Amino acid sequence: MTHFKAIRVDKDSSGYRATYSDFDESELMDGDVTVRVSHSTVNYKDGLAITGKSPVVRRFPMIPGIDFAGVVESSSHPDFKPGDAVVLNGWGVGETHFGGYAQKARVKGDWLVPLHKGFTAAQSMAIGTAGYTSALAVLALEKQGLTPDRGPVLVTGAAGGVGSIAVALLATAGWKVIASTGRPEEADFLKYLGATEIIDRAELSAPGKPLGKERWAAAVDAVGSHTLANVLAQTSYEGSVAACGLAQGMDLPTSVAPFILRGVNLLGIDSVTKPKAARLQAWERLARDLDKTKLAELSTTIGFYKVIDTATDILAGKVRGRVIVEID
Ligand code: NDP
Repeated sequence: MTHFKAIRVDKDSSGYRATYSDFDESELMDGDVTVRVSHSTVNYKDGLAITGKSPVVRRFPMIPGIDFAGVVESSSHPDFKPGDAVVLNGWGVGETHFGGYAQKARVKGDWLVPLHKGFTAAQSMAIGTAGYTSALAVLALEKQGLTPDRGPVLVTGAAGGVGSIAVALLATAGWKVIASTGRPEEADFLKYLGATEIIDRAELSAPGKPLGKERWAAAVDAVGSHTLANVLAQTSYEGSVAACGLAQGMDLPTSVAPFILRGVNLLGIDSVTKPKAARLQAWERLARDLDKTKLAELSTTIGFYKVIDTATDILAGKVRGRVIVEID
């Protein structure tokens, strides 16, 4: 197969558009490993890349898709040989380098990790960048010495991808999880994942006071903006907040009060260029703590030709949990 199907993003005098298209293998970009892609997923960032709502794609044409799982077809990288099952998350793939919404991908072997033996390719994409970022956030909180006996943990954007996997992981680790959501109809789903209390995201999304009542010892925030400011203002003494997302906005209208009066820590989480050792640690944690039945319950499977519609849905906050894309 030298021709393969892929999503193509163009930006030219006709505007910004994503279309289902065909590529030839000779058009693939440089890399030392070629992968036959079996599965991908739809993250919030993929929604931005496909719709053009934020300048995620920085080279045109582009094959979007920041994650993929598949099998190595050819490799000149010492760590990988034909037949190896591999996973890619981030590294600018789907932004500056052809990505996962394609039957084939050619990338640097240094960007790949082996598919963890505890997961199938489909399960690894049910996790995807969103889920692996949740694991990075949990590990970052633990690195600060936080344990469940310190008090509850808050998860914002709880019904989304990062949020739902964070709820499941933290509950397994013994935390009392408070889930913040704008979708009260998902309360039973969030309780099934392990949340013990559900709060309305409207409590956190408007401009608030520099400091409020101490309500949680830790938080995983997928939302940013006023929400993150309010999360910080209500974090208890020497608690920590792992900031991973910007679903409400990229701004952070806060004050120094939580930091200098309560010793609160704001922990930045970047998944895109995370070194390999930390990636492997995150995947190990997911394999240990993420209940497979819950993972199945929080994921939906779609075919390749549903990706563009789903990209619009995820930005509209209509996607529950995670999406697996079957490429073939
Ligand atoms: P999802 O769309 O699946 O989840 C985002 C959730 O945020 C929504 O489901 C919704 O949850 C909530 N939300 C959406 N809009 C608003 C709003 N206006 N105000 C408050 N809450 C809102 O996206 P992902 O889980 O894939 O990603 C979440 C965020 O994390 C994104 O901003 C993404 O870019 C970022 N991210 C960052 C990474 C990193 O490396 N730092 C890696 C992965 C993701 P609910 O319905 O429950 O309220």
